Amino acid sequence: ITPDPAAGQAVKAADRAHVFHSWSAQALIDPLAVAGAEGSYFWDYEGKRYLDFSSQLVNTNIGHQHPKVVTAIQEQAAKLCTFAPAFAIDVRSEAARLIAERTPGDLNKIFFTNGGAEANENAIRMARLHTGRQKVLSTYRSYHGATANAIALTGDPRRWPNETGTSGVVHFWGPYPYRSNFHAEDEAQECERALAHLEQVVAFEGPQTVAAVILETVVGTAGILVPPPGYLAGVREICDRHGIVLILDEVMAGFGRTGEWFAADHWGVVPDLLTFAKGVNSGYVPLGGVAISEKIAATFAERPFPGGLTYSGHPLACASAVATINAMAAEDIVGNARRIGEDVLGPGLRELAERHPSVGEVRGLGVFWAVELVRNRGTREPLVPYNAAGAANAPMAELAAACKQRGLWPFTNMNRLHVVPPCNVTEAEAKEGLAILDQALSAADAHTV
Ligand code: PLP
Repeated sequence: ITPDPAAGQAVKAADRAHVFHSWSAQALIDPLAVAGAEGSYFWDYEGKRYLDFSSQLVNTNIGHQHPKVVTAIQEQAAKLCTFAPAFAIDVRSEAARLIAERTPGDLNKIFFTNGGAEANENAIRMARLHTGRQKVLSTYRSYHGATANAIALTGDPRRWPNETGTSGVVHFWGPYPYRSNFHAEDEAQECERALAHLEQVVAFEGPQTVAAVILETVVGTAGILVPPPGYLAGVREICDRHGIVLILDEVMAGFGRTGEWFAADHWGVVPDLLTFAKGVNSGYVPLGGVAISEKIAATFAERPFPGGLTYSGHPLACASAVATINAMAAEDIVGNARRIGEDVLGPGLRELAERHPSVGEVRGLGVFWAVELVRNRGTREPLVPYNAAGAANAPMAELAAACKQRGLWPFTNMNRLHVVPPCNVTEAEAKEGLAILDQALSAADAHTV
């Protein structure tokens, strides 16, 4: 890494001149200029290196610049960059086969999109046309994307400025034992009461009006909430009883993140539709999609599917998916995620929780962990209020800054820091990150009462 601060300033100035950023007040942001990245690390023009414990937006499951995937993209670019979806293209078919072979049950057909939001848009479209019903149920603690239906499905505050009032979405509460909406005293009670709540929402909405229930198999950005045993099977049963399509959103949880190819594999639950993006090719080229059950595919056997995208099944994206999935299999990257979770991150985070009074709970699996921060462990008052901004969010901003200062790039949301390194993070890297986190957490401890 050769420092070149002048180049960094030029890159930043060029960004500020013309790039309009996501989710931001444009005048108030100060993006870091990035000079390069490899594996679990990236670096800036000052020569400072960061351990990427965010996997960017929890998408670089194979880390940065995996050589096999970079080569596959280069080779595909030389061969055939782009081709319309209506044609049969070798890498597209191969990507679909590799994905369909790994998705649970009879999810055997793949509709490709450019990302996660479009995957959910199309899954909802399929569910509505398949059932002839309109409503879709999703949880408050969720994020499903930023296009019209996907943001309406989303439970987190990013939905608020986007609501049109015509979405047909009804929100309900999923299980969250640490902050139970059901006054549950243990996981089993939480599971039972969360299912009774969903059953009641379905009854009061009118089962014959509900097309789909969509859930993140393990809730991602909204808290890394691992469902209690029996919950997903219970939701599957409610859906079956009422002819409701079950959609599992595995955009963040899929492709190794939880230590299985798909999070649904932990509980043996098969949805009717499964949406994916991010880890399918680590985001090297934009790609997402919907894995479709035989039953729903049959709905569109004789009747046209009224949806499509110019870049559906884009050859460069599909070539990078083929190379990613093959590399993940050859290098046992999914197994690595499971082992790192069981042997390093789980025990390491639980140990941090014992020593830092600001840590209310740690939870997760694989390389998908949340550290939930509180002002007081007894009352569980969050370290910052829900959706805090500016001064009210200072304790979390200070924690993030303390991580960055020590060379750790964190993922923070609300009162949580998520530990979400690449699935091929090494044991030494995971321990390095935990050691930095140990130091940085003093910044949060200072706000406990
Ligand atoms: N669904 C989940 C669970 C996600 O985490 C995300 C993105 O963070 C999305 C959907 C939206 O994906 P995209 O940003 O690719 O549209």
